Amino acid sequence: MKYLVANWKMNLINSKNWICDFNNNLNDSNLNDDLRIVICPNYLQLPKFNQNHLSKINFSMGAQNVSGNNSGAFTGEISAEHLSEFSEVRYCIVGHSERRSAGETDAMIKAKVKQLLTKNITPIICFGESHEIQEKGETEKFLNSQLNSIVNDENLNIDSCILAYEPLWAIGKGIPADLETINNSISYITKIIDLNKSNLKILYGGSVDSENSGEILSVDNVSGLLVGNSSLDGKEFANIAKKF
Ligand code: PEP
Repeated sequence: MKYLVANWKMNLINSKNWICDFNNNLNDSNLNDDLRIVICPNYLQLPKFNQNHLSKINFSMGAQNVSGNNSGAFTGEISAEHLSEFSEVRYCIVGHSERRSAGETDAMIKAKVKQLLTKNITPIICFGESHEIQEKGETEKFLNSQLNSIVNDENLNIDSCILAYEPLWAIGKGIPADLETINNSISYITKIIDLNKSNLKILYGGSVDSENSGEILSVDNVSGLLVGNSSLDGKEFANIAKKF
């Protein structure tokens, strides 16, 4: 299975028009049968997106965040139970760099992953180094520190998660990481998690568009793409989907 994930972030998107643009640009192209497309709009659009489900293809729904707690006095938070009760969410992004920079820690991310797994929602766990870490040559050490507690927790089935390698310096910059960097980082992760014994999927994210997606997908062990800016336009997103 390959994955194409749209992270709409906090943008106002008319989902009906978006689906229309997506469909029109798909024309009669047949997408890879093995491709799962996950759309992550804001929480409020999740149920509406489902009602507008007029697409030629079956989108899966994803959320952009979730609480690390089960229920109770957590004003403004949305739990994994809410996601599964009130929408058809099957995936949820966690640990996005924009949330990490707002104070989310590895421990908080792990708590979110655990909550999601109790509701059979697949966590899409983002990780990636900053430019400074890369400059210092400490990428591997840093990636290990971000994933270590999740990967080595015997009570957590890592095969039920998806990882998304998103180097901070490539997010929203218009230029993705070079193929060598993507290859090096993902190879390193495949060593930490023996992919011969695991079905874990690793995606790449950071300035993906329809021009560069083909070559990024050709990198070993890249099982899909997490797309921000280029997912806001249904037409461009369809062009990316055709590259799978
Ligand atoms: C992201 O925010 O996860 C992302 C990959 O954004 P962009 O595609 O805009 O770099």
